[in-house]
Amino acid sequence: MRLFYNRLQFELTRICNQNCAHCCRGESQNVNLTKEIVDNFFEKNDIYYIGTLLFSGGEPTLNGRMLEYIVDKIIEKQITVTMFMLSINGLSYSEYLVNGLNKLRDYIIKKEKASYCPGVLMVSQSQFHREAKKEVIEKLKHLSYFSPIEKVIITEENILPYGRAYQNGISKQQPDLSELINCQKNYKIKEYEGFEYLTIAYQYISANGNIVNDGCQSYNLMDDYALGNVQKESIDEIYKKMPTMKLIKSNHLYE
Ligand code: SF4
Repeated sequence: MRLFYNRLQFELTRICNQNCAHCCRGESQNVNLTKEIVDNFFEKNDIYYIGTLLFSGGEPTLNGRMLEYIVDKIIEKQITVTMFMLSINGLSYSEYLVNGLNKLRDYIIKKEKASYCPGVLMVSQSQFHREAKKEVIEKLKHLSYFSPIEKVIITEENILPYGRAYQNGISKQQPDLSELINCQKNYKIKEYEGFEYLTIAYQYISANGNIVNDGCQSYNLMDDYALGNVQKESIDEIYKKMPTMKLIKSNHLYE
């Protein structure tokens, strides 16, 4: 079955060169997304469309090579993507990452016959982050998708209550695992112009290949509640294990 993603997120690495007190991920782990995982994902699945392609970490620049590899796969398969988004911490520069984003921007513009690509590269700066390095920003600031740095003050109400933030007791939110557990609302099977699509509102692929329903959690919680692993099975197979999925007819695939 073809896959139609509204949002698809790749966790490039669980390694980070910072140790922010508010980090919802928890302690850094020595895990990188690999070519094998990426190959498995793109070879086992028939991906038709990705609305927003997101990259995260850890610190994405520490495995920028894999971002470029993913982009090369997308171009090879001629998968439609409409925009991309990621945040880095500005302490390290990755030529691979920038090459990958440049390729993705040019590919989107050409495929969509658009005048520009609505991609965004941000640098996270807050009272918890170390200041971004000037030499890194110098290399990034000319990029068409680079978003000017803005230092924000993150209030306790806006801190996700997982990982190190939970351990440090600096969030005023209550942990909520419902998005991790109640996965079915993210998925629908639709028939459109003679093809069946598994439409997915949001999916997170961890650096270890786990498929997760909510990417705003700690590494440990995401591993505990993983739906499966791309190295063992296709997304189709993972969802066929779910009960109560229904085939519906739809004329509005893009809605
Ligand atoms: S918040 Fe971001 S930069 Fe800070 S430790 Fe977590 S992953 Fe690293």
